[in-house]
Amino acid sequence: MAQAARILKTKVGIIGGGPAGLMLSHLLSKSGIENIVIEMRDHETISNTHRAGILEAQAVSMLTDSGVEGRVLTHGDEHAGIDLRFNGESHPLDFRELVDATVTLYAQNEVFVDLAAARARDNGDVRFNCEVTEILDVETSTPKFRFTDAEGTLFEVHADVIVGADGSRSFARRQMPDSVKQDFKVTYPFAWFGILTEAPKSSPELIYANSPHGFALISQRSETVQRMYFQCDPNENVDDWSEDRIWSELNQRVAGPDGFELKTGPIFDKTVLGFRSFVRQPLSHGRMFLIGDAGHTVPPTGAKGLNLAFADVKVLFEALDSFFSTGSGKLLGGYSDLALKRVWKAQNFSYWMTSMLHTPVDADPFMAQRALGELETVTSSRYGQQYLAESYTGWPHS
Ligand SMILES: Cc1cc2nc3c(=O)[nH]c(=O)nc-3n(C[C@H](O)[C@H](O)[C@H](O)COP(=O)(O)OP(=O)(O)OC[C@H]3O[C@@H](n4cnc5c(N)ncnc54)[C@H](O)[C@@H]3O)c2cc1C
Repeated sequence: MAQAARILKTKVGIIGGGPAGLMLSHLLSKSGIENIVIEMRDHETISNTHRAGILEAQAVSMLTDSGVEGRVLTHGDEHAGIDLRFNGESHPLDFRELVDATVTLYAQNEVFVDLAAARARDNGDVRFNCEVTEILDVETSTPKFRFTDAEGTLFEVHADVIVGADGSRSFARRQMPDSVKQDFKVTYPFAWFGILTEAPKSSPELIYANSPHGFALISQRSETVQRMYFQCDPNENVDDWSEDRIWSELNQRVAGPDGFELKTGPIFDKTVLGFRSFVRQPLSHGRMFLIGDAGHTVPPTGAKGLNLAFADVKVLFEALDSFFSTGSGKLLGGYSDLALKRVWKAQNFSYWMTSMLHTPVDADPFMAQRALGELETVTSSRYGQQYLAESYTGWPHS
């Protein structure tokens, strides 16, 4: 006989305890809106998964203004620019001077640790090691989902609203019927080979390098740990890359007449990161709403993924707050259209940065030269620099 599910009642049932799900849960609880977060991985695994690292000022404010632990201010590293490097020459862009804005380097796993600590501090209901396997009745006013906990007990969450915050392979997204959904996607013929190394900073600012050998990004994590990436084949095997081979590949991509060289050290993490641009439209169906990577993914070149997830949270939180305080579903009904406006701006920016900075291995020589012409245009024009600076540091939240 099938196991009877234990019923849990709440206002908002959130699937996924990544940054998007936890941030939404935190804001809802602050407004007195009961919610529950179901996360399939354990706390330690997520805390040790290295992903995003660049926060727009608005994402930082969402953390600090809402009372999440202020470590982002004490441990985050504020950056006022980037360096675009091509033809072996550096072209610094000063964001503060161009658009009076900065970004903060603060690793996504630290954001997760802070948000999870805030939920625990405020007695939030966040359940790790629990996988949602069924979603029911989203077209009614009592949507539900089922999950099984680590002991094998089956639960059924009855909510007023369900939120899919379950990342790029979203289970929630897959439950939307074909008749209501439209997917937009681009796959790229390259990926990023990412490393973490125990080494001093090679440069005070992030370096985005276009070279005949391919793209490289030199970024920082702290005074002693650095994050670097180089463009590679999507099927690259990290075990084929010795430390010497990695350093020589990275160095040839940033080399130039100025003699610039990377500061090296032991490499303790190697990953290949696939590239995809993806948008699901609409970002809602019935009483189910998608936020963050569940609804859209961007290639990491523009550093927009986590920031976009937080921007969705802001729009959806305000709509839910209005729904539960006034009973009006007007803002909820407008969530998808409003969030998608920013999503498409970020998709455009991420695609633009990616195509300008990367040269596919079999690229037409004309296209490689054209990309250099574009970099020259952007860096030699104040308007070009301002466009990049404004998009990189983030447009105002809706
Ligand atoms: C290497 C790398 C570098 C990046 N760099 C940047 C950057 O510099 N700046 C930036 O803004 N973005 C960056 N991103 C993107 C950023 O990491 C994502 O956009 C961000 O994680 C989105 O947050 P999320 O909460 O929507 O999704 P996730 O962080 O993916 O969280 C979703 C959660 O849902 C859980 N889940 C999934 N299915 C279920 C289920 N059925 N039941 C229960 N739980 C479930 C997952 O375990 C996961 O914890 C990067 C990504 C990668 C991979």
